[in-house]
Amino acid sequence: MRLMKKLMQRTLKKSVEASGIGLHSGRTVYLRLDPAPVDTGIVFRRTDVGAEFKVTPDCVMDTMLCTKMGNAEGVTVSTVEHLMSALYGVGVDNVIVSLDAEEIPIFDGSAAPFVYLLEDAGLVAQEKAKKVIKVMRKVEVKDGDKRASFSPSDHFSVSLELDYNHPIVPAQSNKFLINGDFYRSGIARARTFCFQGDVEKMQSVGLALGGGLDNAIVVGDFSILNSTGLRYNDEFMRHKVLDCIGDLYMIGHPIIGAFEARMTGHGLNNKLLRALMADPMNYRFMEVPSDSDVLPLAPIEVAA
Ligand SMILES: [Zn+2]
Repeated sequence: MRLMKKLMQRTLKKSVEASGIGLHSGRTVYLRLDPAPVDTGIVFRRTDVGAEFKVTPDCVMDTMLCTKMGNAEGVTVSTVEHLMSALYGVGVDNVIVSLDAEEIPIFDGSAAPFVYLLEDAGLVAQEKAKKVIKVMRKVEVKDGDKRASFSPSDHFSVSLELDYNHPIVPAQSNKFLINGDFYRSGIARARTFCFQGDVEKMQSVGLALGGGLDNAIVVGDFSILNSTGLRYNDEFMRHKVLDCIGDLYMIGHPIIGAFEARMTGHGLNNKLLRALMADPMNYRFMEVPSDSDVLPLAPIEVAA
């Protein structure tokens, strides 16, 4: 019998640093990404208060406006979804994320700055096989007319239905197969968006203080307020796909399955992960062949 060559876990080749503004606090945050040994997973470290925690579906807490994670002592890290999405998109399994505040920098509101940072660090294959979670049967969760589900598939795909009942953001649905290079070219650059009225409301209660046209598409009643226009014709849709990928990577492993949702958000995505993990019949851990194209992966440095 021929031994299957497996896709191996990946970490960064070297440490990288960046600083940027926190969306809600408006304050400068220093961020550092460090390589980590096999089976570390994704670990967030708050250097200002000396706390750390590993990414799991159970660490997700407040999901009103962003994905926030925390530990029992009440130490939190918020707005993790764009970084989590980028880590998924280039295939990082093990990394230590250090920051000196409670919020990941928003940068330009997309995942592209995180992808550049990860590509700048470079990726290396490690000495243990990557573990993926294969969906074995359909799991669905609902919240009013919002819903999200996973069904068995040989790939990871994201199908979304959006309807904001707003003239500038048309009702739309689409399906994206997330593999190979597509994440970096077709998803990573899509920016977060918000409605002008909501920004004013949030800022009046001390939220989104760092928010503006540099880090979000601001949708007015009659037009988009950003003078540079959109990066993709369907940038709203693609950003929601980006968010879902980040939310789903909170499970700590790439998922192989078809994700379908209508008007889902961080809270419902987390509920779906918990429902998936609640019954061992719903999924199984697998290793995948190294020549498989089921995952989005950035090129790695070939080990000598
Ligand atoms: Zn987002």
